[in-house]
Amino acid sequence: MNISVIGAGYVGLVSAVCFAELGHTVIGVDNNPEKLLALDEGKVPIHENLLPELLQRHLGHRLTFSSSISHAVRESDVIFITVGTPQSATGHADLGYVEAVTREIAKHITSMKLIVEKSTVPVRTSDAIRRTMTLNGASPRLFSVASNPEFLREGSAVTDFLYPDRIVIGVEDSFSEERLREIYSPLCDGSYYRREDLIPGCGASAAHFIVTNTNSAELIKHTSNAFLAMKISFMNAIANIAERVGGDVDQIREGVGADRRIGTSFLNAGIGYGGSCFPKDVLAFRAVAREVGYDFDLLDAVMRINKDQRHQFLRKVRDALWTLRDKRIAVFGLAFKAGTDDVRESPAIEIVEALVNEGCLITAYDPVAMPRALSELGLRVGENTVRMASDPYIAAEDVDAVLILTEWNEFASLDLPRLHSQMRLPVVIDGRNLYRPEVMEAAGFVYYSVGRAAVF
Ligand code: NAD
Repeated sequence: MNISVIGAGYVGLVSAVCFAELGHTVIGVDNNPEKLLALDEGKVPIHENLLPELLQRHLGHRLTFSSSISHAVRESDVIFITVGTPQSATGHADLGYVEAVTREIAKHITSMKLIVEKSTVPVRTSDAIRRTMTLNGASPRLFSVASNPEFLREGSAVTDFLYPDRIVIGVEDSFSEERLREIYSPLCDGSYYRREDLIPGCGASAAHFIVTNTNSAELIKHTSNAFLAMKISFMNAIANIAERVGGDVDQIREGVGADRRIGTSFLNAGIGYGGSCFPKDVLAFRAVAREVGYDFDLLDAVMRINKDQRHQFLRKVRDALWTLRDKRIAVFGLAFKAGTDDVRESPAIEIVEALVNEGCLITAYDPVAMPRALSELGLRVGENTVRMASDPYIAAEDVDAVLILTEWNEFASLDLPRLHSQMRLPVVIDGRNLYRPEVMEAAGFVYYSVGRAAVF
């Protein structure tokens, strides 16, 4: 199949590379010239496991990049839209990029195409795409619009794409369904995951292929993200109660998660969700509900608990250090989660900014997110209140406390005696519960975590 993917960001680039991996001929389109230059040279502009290897494998063969939507439309049967849908000032998803791309596609369409929205969009966006296509001169006989929400997670995006639990397509006609079935058939009939020479099979099995109408597919994506965000906030609320009464959130998770109706996944207490998806998608879903006349105030609580979780963490830092002005603090982790260099809406960045505002001097370390964090924190770095270190032990030199803010494996296997010897005061405040309190106590640390009693 000839495919183009418009928007070569986290989702678009992974999709383009993986569609090539599945045997399709793919054009990745972006309007960022620097990104295109890097990609043409085989350089991946983001940190994502396995992406460089797959790019190398397919670049120049089944995969090319272009800045031209007209070229992509001409050469493809199926056009995926994967541009950003950021939060607008009103809390709605800003669909400006999706609209701009749709108008551009409409201008160049001369033969039958399938347009697939893969970006996360509010319900009924596919109707708006259809309308916009027609208004901009495309004959309704020359296109179909389908929805195919993406569920990959940054940090494991390639394996999530190639070994998904499910593929959801929202269609209004058999033409769209047939095309999308054909595109994804290697993931559903077993022909991809059985090829051991490629990416080791992750114990994968055939993906569940779910066909719905377009409105349901759009709702499935918002529902999934809102539900996962709710699980996180729910467990953080439980952690706050456990902490106050001498409970242990790890034990609670085990006891609750053993119920198969509940399960243990996504029930880790911490400093709250962040990233470029959950915060904006929960807010956008709240706006959608309001617009259709339903007061989905459960989502307000999810967002409030999440925001408050940062404050709860900062309160612990104050408890541990008393006053904050001129305190030296090492921060382990800046990415919003492990496995990525993405710092968009990262709780770690928010916490660093709050501590800087209170007069702390920060030395931060992250295995891959420091360059992006530097530009996010910009001015702060200039003021010399935030410095980056080349490893965690250097970051911890002479500090009053270490804060663990991202759940990188590297931070879960620190050389504890070495860390202890580096620090001025042996205080660790762990926002990701990477250690058992008794282990840290035995290693001589004052240790605060989330939903468990502090040890001194
Ligand atoms: P991103 O910001 O990383 O990438 C968007 C890309 O689109 C950028 O490279 C940008 O240059 C390009 N672009 C914007 N306008 C363009 C235009 N007119 N023509 C060509 N290219 C254009 O965004 P992302 O994280 O990949 O997210 C994309 C969508 O996928 C969003 O709707 C997001 O909610 C959704 N999503 C993201 C994830 C994730 O983990 N990042 C997961 C699932 C779904």
